[in-house]
Amino acid sequence: MKPDTFTKNAGLLLEEPLIFEKGSLNASGVDMPEPPKVDSSLGGFARKDAPELPGLSEPESVRHFTRLSQKNFGIDTGMFPLGSCTMKHNPRLNEKIARLPGFSQAHPLQPVSSVQGSLGVLWHITEWLKDLTGMAAVDLTPAAGAHGELCGLFLIKEAFKARGELKQRTTILIPDSAHGTNPATAAQCGFQIKSIPSADNGLLDVDALRAATDHTTAGLMLTNPNTCGLFERDTLEIANILHSNGAYYYCDGANFNALLGQVKPGDLGVDVMHINLHKTFSTPHGGGGPGSGPVVMIEELAPFAPLPFVKKAKDGTFSLVEENPSSLGRIKGFHGQVGMFIRALSYMLSYGIDGLTQVSSDAVLNATYIQHHLKDILGLFSTEPCMHEVLFDDGALRKDGLETLDLAKILEDEGFHPMTTYFPLVVRGAMLIEPTETESKEQLDQFINTIKYWMERTKTEEMKERFKKAPLYTPRRRFNEAATARNPKLRWYKK
Ligand SMILES: *Cc1c(COP(=O)(O)O)cnc(C)c1O
Repeated sequence: MKPDTFTKNAGLLLEEPLIFEKGSLNASGVDMPEPPKVDSSLGGFARKDAPELPGLSEPESVRHFTRLSQKNFGIDTGMFPLGSCTMKHNPRLNEKIARLPGFSQAHPLQPVSSVQGSLGVLWHITEWLKDLTGMAAVDLTPAAGAHGELCGLFLIKEAFKARGELKQRTTILIPDSAHGTNPATAAQCGFQIKSIPSADNGLLDVDALRAATDHTTAGLMLTNPNTCGLFERDTLEIANILHSNGAYYYCDGANFNALLGQVKPGDLGVDVMHINLHKTFSTPHGGGGPGSGPVVMIEELAPFAPLPFVKKAKDGTFSLVEENPSSLGRIKGFHGQVGMFIRALSYMLSYGIDGLTQVSSDAVLNATYIQHHLKDILGLFSTEPCMHEVLFDDGALRKDGLETLDLAKILEDEGFHPMTTYFPLVVRGAMLIEPTETESKEQLDQFINTIKYWMERTKTEEMKERFKKAPLYTPRRRFNEAATARNPKLRWYKK
């Protein structure tokens, strides 16, 4: 609702223009003396016009960015049940540890003898990830999940190259429920993509996989638990089908937070998998920090892993391995996102293995609680037991002429970040809800009761109007999302 105020501010929520739209070029945050006249050493490349920097004083700049930050919604503001994204609390202890001067002020070009502590972190997190996944080797360098996928498929290509089968292995199999990064990664690596249908219960159709797999198959990319929030229990048979055709089993490990301490991907027949430290191990993401996507792999793929990695000598000192003739090379500057390794290791050590096992149990319990209370209110996609997230379709909304987007926008008025909507693509009007283990029962009840409240009000024309108008109370109203995505304005031009 547009406020009726003179300033267009609503209480203490302040309107804020773009920084370029305010200020005058006569104002400045700093006072500098006129520079002395000296001959330019820029060889004619000096700019002719002054840059169009906004002229703001220091307090004006501070207010500008503070006001914008207050329009942001993050995990520290409220519940963020965005399925597949694992928006769990980021413990402050992790931040404290990452800010210890010995870590925060280390430089990647320092001699290794002077950064033994940082290298120790890399070594310890490698050992933890090996233990938790039951895999032989870890590469820490990928910068995020999608980058880990790229690394994983590169490893598979190297293995085929070594076997002399690179030309023959043209195809990657991907379920139709997969995250968009999976086919994007496979295409980027030059593979053809063959889509495998999901069965009606949301699990991979194993017969369809069997029929699609042959000597041209390079591998399968499968998320487990899958993007419908269901555990792929035929995983051993899936592995068998792939391996007997000489193909590799790539697991998209974005949902590893549901398996922590319960089962090891190495025991599920997986050959290579990325882990999103920024999902499973509570390091910040979204606008809050860079991602980190370590890749775990079987022994056979380890020789090809990107550089560098850390080695521990018998006397306990750490060194960096920066050369290895069989390695595919480097895929990231320096060592990967070291700040995220420190945060993730701090999380692992503070929970311990029993704590991490409870994390996955509680994540599944919270999602199951939501499934139980909303299954008769929203259309439940599958009666399979859900894991760490629960998937609904738009059946209950559609019968009253409403859609998923309408409920998502009502949730914004109620102060919740919406759930993931319209993903996975195999479910009509999908709503994927991932509460994570860090929400309390009171908070879950508030969320459930909010959805119940609105779903009891879908019948009258007046309330349908209300749904369609949502959000009313956010700084901006409903966008034409397709148009904004297709025609993004990424630059400011002077009017
Ligand atoms: C988040 C996610 C990815 C991509 O990870 P990024 O770190 O965002 O690159 C891939 N697959 C699934 C299932 C995901 O949820």
